[in-house]
Amino acid sequence: MAGIVVVFDFDKTIIELDSDNWVVDELGATDLFNQLLPTMPWNSLMDMMMKELHAQGKTIEDIKEVLRKAPIHPRIVAAIRKAHALGCDLRIVSDANMFFIETILDHLCIRNCFSEINSNPSYVDEHGRLRISPYVDFHSSPHGCSLCPPNMCKGMIIERIQASLANEGKQRMIYLGDGSGDFCPSLKLHEKDFVMPRKNFPVWDLICENRGLVKAEIHEWTDGEELEHVMLGLIDKISIEESDNSNTVQFLSIDCKFETIPIAVHEALPPVLRVHR
Ligand SMILES: [Mg+2]
Ligand SMILES: [Zn+2]
Repeated sequence: MAGIVVVFDFDKTIIELDSDNWVVDELGATDLFNQLLPTMPWNSLMDMMMKELHAQGKTIEDIKEVLRKAPIHPRIVAAIRKAHALGCDLRIVSDANMFFIETILDHLCIRNCFSEINSNPSYVDEHGRLRISPYVDFHSSPHGCSLCPPNMCKGMIIERIQASLANEGKQRMIYLGDGSGDFCPSLKLHEKDFVMPRKNFPVWDLICENRGLVKAEIHEWTDGEELEHVMLGLIDKISIEESDNSNTVQFLSIDCKFETIPIAVHEALPPVLRVHR
């Protein structure tokens, strides 16, 4: 299963709600947030909200305490642990921020299950205020993708991961998400990949309306229990397919040992052709 990469969105996929909204609501800043939202990008507003909360005397520990209470379906934690134990490479691509995500994953004791977290950078400054910056600096180097918010194109991140996987020999990807920002990465997936959109959430609507544009196999899910069932089922399915493929290659290399066809040619042939050669 070393060849399977599972990429998770974070908000409303791993945790049950949006971590930005959760922190703002729990610390009593919802009205100000709603008032300022029309005036600036979401990501910049979150940085501003952290400034406001700091000015009101809210500490980093207050923010951490709220994050540790964020609701999560217990089967999702179990599913992540199982996929990791099976040898899958788990990653996160999220428009939340590193501080929120790491605080929650640490609390759940599953941070070590992930090989990579891609999110908006954040740090605690010398005054004890949390600073959040955009993943992509949209003033100096805009990403140019019209599907995505200015601070992050998840599709670009997926393309970067795909390029690195080609070098590592990992081939199959499962992508899980719920939001409209998860549509762009869904379009980047290849034919043998899988996309798991959360049913009745924005990415599911977008995929349903644009099925022809999605090359990956689509498997919807509604809650943590179903996420676990579908994701582990796909991991199982890929493992069987991949072991069948390697058996076929092995069989062929024995069968054709007196021929001079290089193995790279076998690899390029579709599985059906390989079997009947
Ligand atoms: Mg989400
Ligand atoms: Zn994009």
